[in-house]
Amino acid sequence: MSAPGEAVVDLGAIAANLRTIAAMARTPLMAVVKADGFGHCAVPVARAAVAAGATWLGTTSAAEALELRDAGLTTPILSWLHPVDEDFGRLIDTRVDISVSSLPHLHAVAAAARLRGTPAFVQLKADTGLSRNGAIGSDWPELTAWARKYEKDDGVRVRGVWSHLANADAHDDTAVAAQVDAFEEAVQAARATGLDPRLLHLANSAAALHAPRTRFDLCRIGIALYGFGPGLRPAMTLGSRVVNVKRVPAGTGISYGPDHVTARPTTLALLPLGFADGLPRAAQGRAEVWLHGQRRPIAGRIAMDQCVIDAGDLPVRIGDPVTVFGDEPAPTAADWARWAGTNPHEILTGIGARVGRILGKAANP
Ligand SMILES: *Cc1c(COP(=O)(O)O)cnc(C)c1O
Repeated sequence: MSAPGEAVVDLGAIAANLRTIAAMARTPLMAVVKADGFGHCAVPVARAAVAAGATWLGTTSAAEALELRDAGLTTPILSWLHPVDEDFGRLIDTRVDISVSSLPHLHAVAAAARLRGTPAFVQLKADTGLSRNGAIGSDWPELTAWARKYEKDDGVRVRGVWSHLANADAHDDTAVAAQVDAFEEAVQAARATGLDPRLLHLANSAAALHAPRTRFDLCRIGIALYGFGPGLRPAMTLGSRVVNVKRVPAGTGISYGPDHVTARPTTLALLPLGFADGLPRAAQGRAEVWLHGQRRPIAGRIAMDQCVIDAGDLPVRIGDPVTVFGDEPAPTAADWARWAGTNPHEILTGIGARVGRILGKAANP
């Protein structure tokens, strides 16, 4: 049975991107492989990143961390968002570092470690301005003091202190500098309680590349690993094939509505991918795909399962390959993000379950 489209993931690009970022940031790197490696398949991406020099792996959930351990990856992993009743024992058994942002979480992790008779490696998260996870205000000294107490009882080892930036992607230097200051204060406060965190980290991709003060001991690299940033190569190519072709006269309505009516005779090529496969409806009227070595517009509404390419006078045939996004000169996921008013992260992680994943190298049609 064939999939309506295929996302081809070039692990060579993942490795090359990691090396390029390492040369620019000159800091150890954590490859962030949450959300199935931003839709690229977490395990092979993690292996490629580690082989290229990543010294840490980052996941959001415990299940994502355990998937990496089950696949045999022994690299240090940090997992950072857990319900308070998470099975922390499994993370302790598999030596996954647990990010802790609140006292109830710290107590739960310490209780799990006590049951196991093995200390838990934790990294305490400070909220330095994003107002999501992380401790702030008087919660921070309380969290660090309790962590120190558990460290003395040998229940936890505080390996790191970390935080996350709110506005690095917008290159907002003032906001970034304020968060760096707040982070340094949080680290000082942690040291004042007797903790000795050896691993300090704050930067995501954009900060690692553009804001040297954010780099500390480790940079957490997500979107840049997948190829978005200066000098980097998109690792994923989303491709499909034309499933129908027709020649239509001027005045022909295309797709629901119709929102688009042809201005002249043209050839329409049907693409079996729609918003259920991750092509955002909001990109209507701007989106283009790569067909016969050219950018051609998608005409009319993107439907759940299909959309229509205005192929003009190209000699298109059923079965011809189409690149929805990939590397230049084809449209990129960053182009799709701009057309839809979102970021490339959402485009990459939005690819639907019907689309096949293939490890390899895509050829542009
Ligand atoms: C997703 C995530 C990252 C990676 O961010 P990019 O901007 O994609 O590099 C880093 N740190 C945390 C906490 C994250 O959730």
